Amino acid sequence: MTFAIHGLPVARGIAIGRAVLMGGRVDVAHYFIEPEQVEAEIDRIRVGRDAVVEEIHRLQQTIAGMGPKEAPHELTALLDVHLMLLQDEDLIAGVKHWITDRLYNAEWALTTQLEALSRQFDEMEDEYLRERKADLEQVAERILRYMKGVATPVAAPAAKKGTARQQDLLLDGTVDVPLVLIAHDLSPADMLQFKQSVFAGFVTDVGGKTSHTAIVARSMDIPAVVGARSASQLVRQDDWVIIDGDAGVMIVDPSPIILAEYGFKQRQAELERGRLARLKHTPAVTLDGQKVDLVANIEMPDDAAGALAAGAVGVGLFRSEFLFMGRQGNLPDEEEQYQAYKRAVEGMQGLPVTIRTIDVGADKPLDDTRRDEAHLNPALGLRAIRWSLADPAMFLTQLRAILRAAAHGRVNMLIPMLAHVSEIRHTLSLVDFARAELDNRGLPYGAVSVGAMIEIPAAALTLKTFLKYFDFLSIGTNDLIQYTLAIDRADESVAHLYDPAHPAVLRLVADTIAECRAQGKPVSVCGEMAGDVGFTRLLLGLGLRSFSMHPAQILAVKQEVLRADATRLATWAQDVIAAEEPGKLLE
Ligand code: PEP
Ligand code: MG
Repeated sequence: MTFAIHGLPVARGIAIGRAVLMGGRVDVAHYFIEPEQVEAEIDRIRVGRDAVVEEIHRLQQTIAGMGPKEAPHELTALLDVHLMLLQDEDLIAGVKHWITDRLYNAEWALTTQLEALSRQFDEMEDEYLRERKADLEQVAERILRYMKGVATPVAAPAAKKGTARQQDLLLDGTVDVPLVLIAHDLSPADMLQFKQSVFAGFVTDVGGKTSHTAIVARSMDIPAVVGARSASQLVRQDDWVIIDGDAGVMIVDPSPIILAEYGFKQRQAELERGRLARLKHTPAVTLDGQKVDLVANIEMPDDAAGALAAGAVGVGLFRSEFLFMGRQGNLPDEEEQYQAYKRAVEGMQGLPVTIRTIDVGADKPLDDTRRDEAHLNPALGLRAIRWSLADPAMFLTQLRAILRAAAHGRVNMLIPMLAHVSEIRHTLSLVDFARAELDNRGLPYGAVSVGAMIEIPAAALTLKTFLKYFDFLSIGTNDLIQYTLAIDRADESVAHLYDPAHPAVLRLVADTIAECRAQGKPVSVCGEMAGDVGFTRLLLGLGLRSFSMHPAQILAVKQEVLRADATRLATWAQDVIAAEEPGKLLE
């Protein structure tokens, strides 16, 4: 039966494919293995299962010598049930299927099969049998726990384009359709893992439009919907689904008529892409001759190639924190960071690269197991520069690596989440200190411009201080909106209140651009607003000449720039920001 699930649109386009459910557990590793690793992965499960069977046998022996008070009959019966479940053919065959046919790693295969079986249990008439679902979950949990304690023989591979085996699968017809990923939640680190995988689209139950998961989805340039509430409960493994990333809707089990309609839309979108691709080499200049810099937001050094291919004239935001994520606390040292920044700089072939110092915290935990649950409000807590200043040794390591990379090309250094002049002074003194350390060590480094992100209202309201200390400013509208409107950007339940066109937000953006222009300091916008074509004309009218966005958005924004007359837009823009409901004038 066809039904639709509504969420929030985060990345444009239509995807049609079969659902791959990632299960509700974000603390379990999810990655694709190589075909040669299939046997080893099946072995890991087998070893885990055998260990748990043994553990239960030992327990049975222990309680055999006890009286009924210490070891009630129910306990013995329960252990029997667990043993039976561990030997259940459906569990074992299913896990093998996900490993062999889909190349899931062992933990992912186990949780996927667990989910499939749980649904079968839910549908059982018999209450006693239905309740056995909890037992099944317990045995799976024991196996997972055992596997966690044992070193994983295969390291989670870095993001890669579908493995050779996956491509074979696509060619030989075993898996002859695109796959779309459905999950309760995906951390930014998970998303990075899947960045160049075979998935044609994503849907998650949770998340806001500018949550970091949504941002990475957008950077992958594949249709995505977040905040789809119970999608992962309602969709089944291998269901046919359509993801409409423009409308924020997922259609499950579509009828032939609906499939045909979306197939048509998909072809139209392809044609539009083809048309836009012709603009790649056209300079971004408005009708009245104003030159506009369209630069890229990237997460990894290798994204530089995609930025160049999309016609970006530089990198306006390299979110360096992605180098630090998913490493179980084993942070990259100076050399590793230096090599990564250098690769990005060289990858941009002489164009400038703006490297933002680490911005972890809130919805960007360093790894899934270290989600910040200890603090009541992580978005207001030890995040970004606050985190860096709290750990000067770690911060100095990063600063030295960035300065050294600057010896290989044009580098700007960008500092996130500043609000206080004391933080500004502290940060800049550490930058000086990092230079002095490199001098002492005799290591070469290059000149960098140092800029600040304007993403806290306090910063936007004290621009003079920021302009006194910094060479340039970059407006982080994602956080500026979050902190101005007191809306958690990752929380779908308040997503309807997350409004980039709120007059208060536009006032802060407009004043920042105007003040920078008045003082002749470069300013850009690097939040999601910069890549949203609905705001291009307004930002041009407010005087913005540097937009930083995902490479996939550059050509659509360029088209808007080419059609705009910035001089005429200036008057209109002032009317828009003065309006009670500016959003209505932007429609
Ligand atoms: C922003 O806040 O607008 C921004 C670009 O930074 P991030 O999205 O990484 O917080
Ligand atoms: Mg930010």
